[in-house]
Amino acid sequence: MPLSVRRLAHTLLSARPVLLRSLRTPCLSLPSRTFAASAHNRIMETTGFTDTQLTECGQQEKDPKEFHAALAKDGWLGIALPEGLGGSGLGISEATMMMQTIAQSGAGMAGAQAIHANIYATQPLARFCTQQQLEETIPNIISGKWRTCFGVTEPNVGLDTLRLKTTATRTSDNTYVVSGQKIWITCAQVAQKMMLLARTTPLSDVQKSTDGLSLFCIDLDRTHPGLSLGRIKKMGGRAVDANEVFFDAYPIPASSLIGDEGEGFRIILHGMNAERCLLAGEALGLGYAALERAAKYAQERVVFGRPIGMNQGVAHPLADAFMRLEAAKLATYHAARLYDAYAAGTDASITSHAVGVACNSAKYLAAEAAFTACERAVLAHGGMGYAVEYDVERYFRECLVPRIAPVSREMILNYVSEKVLGLPRSY
Ligand SMILES: Cc1cc2nc3c(=O)[nH]c(=O)nc-3n(C[C@H](O)[C@H](O)[C@H](O)COP(=O)(O)OP(=O)(O)OC[C@H]3O[C@@H](n4cnc5c(N)ncnc54)[C@H](O)[C@@H]3O)c2cc1C
Repeated sequence: MPLSVRRLAHTLLSARPVLLRSLRTPCLSLPSRTFAASAHNRIMETTGFTDTQLTECGQQEKDPKEFHAALAKDGWLGIALPEGLGGSGLGISEATMMMQTIAQSGAGMAGAQAIHANIYATQPLARFCTQQQLEETIPNIISGKWRTCFGVTEPNVGLDTLRLKTTATRTSDNTYVVSGQKIWITCAQVAQKMMLLARTTPLSDVQKSTDGLSLFCIDLDRTHPGLSLGRIKKMGGRAVDANEVFFDAYPIPASSLIGDEGEGFRIILHGMNAERCLLAGEALGLGYAALERAAKYAQERVVFGRPIGMNQGVAHPLADAFMRLEAAKLATYHAARLYDAYAAGTDASITSHAVGVACNSAKYLAAEAAFTACERAVLAHGGMGYAVEYDVERYFRECLVPRIAPVSREMILNYVSEKVLGLPRSY
């Protein structure tokens, strides 16, 4: 059923101040803990889920589809999509805030990743689709009827995206045929649509390696013999599936091409910068959630006749981790604001270079801050940090994802070395 824009706007507007308050204030002081708790409770009340249920989904490798459906029902998936298509017309700043809040609620990466691609992968769609494509796809994604996944990474190419080997070959006016392999594709088991990046002109025939790649929004017809999936066993976030995807002469309609043929890399960059902001938000949420658990445990756990939090050896690493999260939070919301201002074209002084640097830096800083917070939260729990019951072991496993994906720490350091400091390219 199409969403009521008015109901959606009302939901978001009524929730926004709470979300904003939770972000503006430190999460470990008493008043701010109340704010944070109210925002997080609101998200969890919306979904009817508890963090324990999400932990169980992870243990059973069960997709939290009701969690996705509940967020869709209340309009959250359209947060950064145009109002004319049933979205709320807000930006990546608000979407980042939402993803942070979801992760921080205790849903962690499992909850966030269940909806993540529906938020960022739709950004290039909203910008580059034809009106007909927009009307056919976006309302179905916002309403939750369709789930999406993002098909970029390949096993034999890795981070060297421009050399990806999956091809989409035009065989008639109406059809392309896809052959190749993707890996680590989140939610491919449950998604109806994939944003697929494939080469339409061989690398040897293009002037620039960024040319000749094309973006498609394709159906995943799992009954077709040309498409097969293999689930990857993974360390954390097990509620959401990760997959190898094999295409063998898999036909797709020419109408699934997004933007111009050969322009896919430039188009997809639009979604990639948004994804870096969202992942930074998710990392922050995870880090704050871990610290909150650690602070509670350090107050309650008594050893040598006093709470362990009275020992500076326990308290200071947590305080230091908190300040790292706060600094990363500023970088993250700065990046998201730049992204939105650039996309809106309201400030000519903001360049795509500045947006790229800010989004990459934010993802790096938030992922590192989250890792520090989650590791220290485990250590503050002593042996209980290793027990599933206390949640921090899950956060610790999950916090490795933002360090690795969608781009590794090393490649961000390479990017800043070259593009900001002007150092020679090292690879
Ligand atoms: C949980 C999870 C979910 C994911 N979801 C998706 C998804 O939905 N869709 C999708 O397309 N992809 C997804 N990915 C893939 C992810 O984006 C890639 O794993 C990531 O980009 C790293 O690529 P790679 O694994 O091929 O690493 P590789 O390219 O093999 O690199 C391995 C290591 O070598 C380092 N390295 C390589 N080259 C250099 C260099 N020149 N200088 C310095 N260091 C270098 C890297 O930094 C890295 O540490 C997901 C990954 C994970 C773990």
